[in-house]
Amino acid sequence: MAAPAVSMERACEMLGAKLRSVNVAYCQQSGLKASSFTSVRGQPILYRDYTARTPQGPKPYRVLLLGGIHGDELSAVSIVFDWMRRLDTEKFQQFEWRVMPCLNPDGLLVSPATRTNANGVDLNRNFPTLDWKSDALQYWKTKARKDPRRYPGPKALSEPESRGLMDMLKEFQPDVIVSVHAPYGVLDFDGPQKPPQKFGYLSLQLLGTYPGSLGNFAGMNLSVPVITLELPSAGQMPPPQQAQRIWGDMLVWLEKNLPKRPPAQYSKLEKPFESATATP
Ligand SMILES: [Zn+2]
Repeated sequence: MAAPAVSMERACEMLGAKLRSVNVAYCQQSGLKASSFTSVRGQPILYRDYTARTPQGPKPYRVLLLGGIHGDELSAVSIVFDWMRRLDTEKFQQFEWRVMPCLNPDGLLVSPATRTNANGVDLNRNFPTLDWKSDALQYWKTKARKDPRRYPGPKALSEPESRGLMDMLKEFQPDVIVSVHAPYGVLDFDGPQKPPQKFGYLSLQLLGTYPGSLGNFAGMNLSVPVITLELPSAGQMPPPQQAQRIWGDMLVWLEKNLPKRPPAQYSKLEKPFESATATP
């Protein structure tokens, strides 16, 4: 495992220099840690865990909150920092959270920011979905017209960021994943549950599943619900009132809608997932 090229403190300075809304001192003192993996350029991928304050049972549900899987969706990173502050003070909070505000720091920190990582791979097309081998490159060549912004990589999990997230899924085993994007201004959902209809000003609109996307992989293949929040602007945060409403509506939905017994689908990951299941 390569050590990060810079410290957590320096990573926070770089995030703060790029995103006006991210306060460097808060980032450095908020309890964020470097995860076990780094980006292609060696940036630490920061995360923070929050324990349940008011657990509803011996084993609270686990929520994984991800921002910035696409580097050029700046608001998606900023709003996760905003929600971390809410989690700091939320008194009645029944979940265990793992919060990773920026999964693709290389894409964010370069100028101009890029959707892809430093290898030019769309991380949200690089997960080992059942249809990756048969469809991902084919889909990119035809329907995506070889758009370099949507290149799925030479093979599934070719990238350190997607491999690292995969290891984290195995270890943390979230009951639900929330992934923040922009700029479509909708709420998207993959998974076995009935989807939420509206969080703040974001209304449900299913955007479809793609070979290699996190929604397809976790939501469809592992039956772990994936809530995708598409903020309306990549460069601008939602107004504070909306940021708060989206958060509040999401918490209410999570409290009411997670399955009574979470599906134990992670056992599927014990063997090599894609090779065990993909078409030859
Ligand atoms: Zn995105």
